[in-house]
Formats: sequence, C-alpha cells, structure tokens
Amino acid sequence: RAKRLGGARWDLFDQAMHASAFQRMSLESDMRRSLLENRFVVHYQPVVDLRTGRISGFEALVRWNRHDKGLVYPNDFIPIAEDTGLIIPLDLWVMREACRTLRGWQEEFPSEPLTISINLSTRLFSLANLAEQVSEILESTEVDPACVRLEITETMAMSDADRALQLLTELKALGVQLSIDDFGTGYSSLNYLHRIPANVLKIDRSFVSQMHESEECMQIIRTIMLLARNLGMRVIAEGPETEAHVEKLVGLECDYGQGYFFSKPVSQEQARHLLETAPFERS
Ligand code: C2E
Ligand code: MG
Ligand code: MG
Ligand code: MG
Repeated sequence: RAKRLGGARWDLFDQAMHASAFQRMSLESDMRRSLLENRFVVHYQPVVDLRTGRISGFEALVRWNRHDKGLVYPNDFIPIAEDTGLIIPLDLWVMREACRTLRGWQEEFPSEPLTISINLSTRLFSLANLAEQVSEILESTEVDPACVRLEITETMAMSDADRALQLLTELKALGVQLSIDDFGTGYSSLNYLHRIPANVLKIDRSFVSQMHESEECMQIIRTIMLLARNLGMRVIAEGPETEAHVEKLVGLECDYGQGYFFSKPVSQEQARHLLETAPFERS
C-alpha cells in the first residue's frame, strides 16, 4: 500500500516537473525571440537628491513586453535569463539602450548633471572581454563614462571575490561609477568592502520600509551611512514610499532616495517629462 501511495505521489511530482520544465522552455524560447524582435523595454526610476529635490539621474529597469501576456517584470524572467545565459545579451542591450537614452536627455537638458544606473548580472563576470564590451557601448553611444553607474549586488561582489575585484577594477578604469546594490542583505566583510572601488552604496529597501517600526532597522541604516562616509561613498536609500520615510532620511543626511514616494519606474517619455517639470524640487 505504501508503495502504491509512493507511486502515485511520484506521478504527481513527475507531472509537475514536466509542466514547469515545459513552462521554462517556452519562456526561454519566447525570450530569445523577443530579444530579436525588440520586445524588451527599459523603464526609468528617478534617483532624487534629498537635499535639493532635484533628479540626479535614473536607474534603468528592464521589462518584457511578452506576446499576448502584457508587461512582465524582472523577478519573473531574470532568474531564467540567468540560468540560460540569455541575461548576457539582455544586459548588454539594456546598457546600450540606457546609454542612448541618457545621451538624448543630456542634449536636451544640458544644465542637469544626470547619471544612469544599470544593473549587471553576475553572469556577465564570465565574459572574458566584459570591460571591452562595456567600453565599446560607451564609445558608440558617446556618453561620458563618469555619468554611467554600474550596479552590482552585495552578494555578487562577494561570491567570487577575487574575480569580482579584478573585473570591477577593470570596469572602474573605464571611468564609470560603481554602486553596490541591496546593501545590508549580504555578508560583506569590511576588509573586502574597502577594496571594492565603489562610489555608491544602496541601502536595501527592507531596512527603509521598516525604519518607523523597527529601531533595529534605523540602527542598521545609521551604521551603513557611517560606513559609507568613512569609505568615501555616497548613499542611496532604496524604496522610500511615504513622506515620513523621506523626512527621516533627510534627517539622517542621506544623499539620495529612489522610491515610490517620488516615482515608480516609468517609460522613457514619462521620465523625460519628470526632467522637464522637476516636480520634487524644494523651493
Ligand atoms: P533592484 O536593482 O534593487 O531595483 C530596484 C527594484 O525595487 C525595482 O524593481 C523597483 O521598481 C523597486 N522599487 C523601487 N522603489 C520601490 C518602492 O518604493 N517600493 C517598492 N515596493 N519597490 C520599489 P523591478 O524593476 O521589479 O526590478 C527588480 C530587480 O530585477 C532589480 O532590483 C534588479 O535586481 C533586477 N533587474 C532589473 N532590471 C535589470 C536588468 O536590466 N539587468 C539585470 N541583470 N537585473 C535587472
Ligand atoms: Mg539596481
Ligand atoms: Mg536594489
Ligand atoms: Mg533590490
């Protein structure tokens, strides 16, 4: 009897496996096709200078306009893109697109010193010529490398520390900025952190969203800010959603905020409109 039950369970398990393997395969082939057909789009979320309320730049966040399925968000396809290696052409496409967009904005709004932040997957670290490819994109889009900020997560920087350090140093030599994303959720050793040539730390949203409820989260934010100051880095708070969050961050003298309180990630046209109207500027 036990055996029969086990057999039945196995069948169920088997079916579920097939379904998910099939889903992944169709996702993968759709993604491949979409790359060729230009069905990915980049949205932009403003990074606001908390002192002045000016937009200091944007983070480029990819979305997928999947056939008949509407707009799909990164958490639903980035993991598979990473497994299949498709993340490599995708990330390089996002980088080119975002640099091109930045170039256009800089021409239209020459008085604003704008920065574009671009997420890098760890998978890119397996490219032997990553720095060369990035350099080619910077040159062909004619952006000033100093206005381009590459984001890597804390976990990524830690996972293969020597390789990461070597690559980050090569990238830094191109003149770009580096930022450490989702900071506070990984396990950086301080000894390693100070060797990473990063300009910016992004405090993970989980701390910001709980800053009113949890004194511990506040303490973590204060500690990260102190750490950043001592290492000569700027700080971006991820995910402020309310005026109270922003007030508190201003009180802590946090440099920048990037969250729904200011704006969700928006289309290129809507982002341009934000630049034109400067809606967050303090008078
Ligand atoms: P991330 O780099 O940490 O980006 C910030 C994410 O937080 C974005 O989600 C953004 O919409 C969301 N967010 C910002 N402010 C708020 C807020 O106030 N409240 C809430 N609830 N969420 C907020 P998104 O666009 O869904 O992206 C998720 C993640 O996917 C990104 O996290 C990044 O790790 C990855 N990703 C996005 N675009 C790319 C890409 O082009 N390449 C790679 N490799 N990864 C990407
Ligand atoms: Mg990011
Ligand atoms: Mg982040
Ligand atoms: Mg995050």
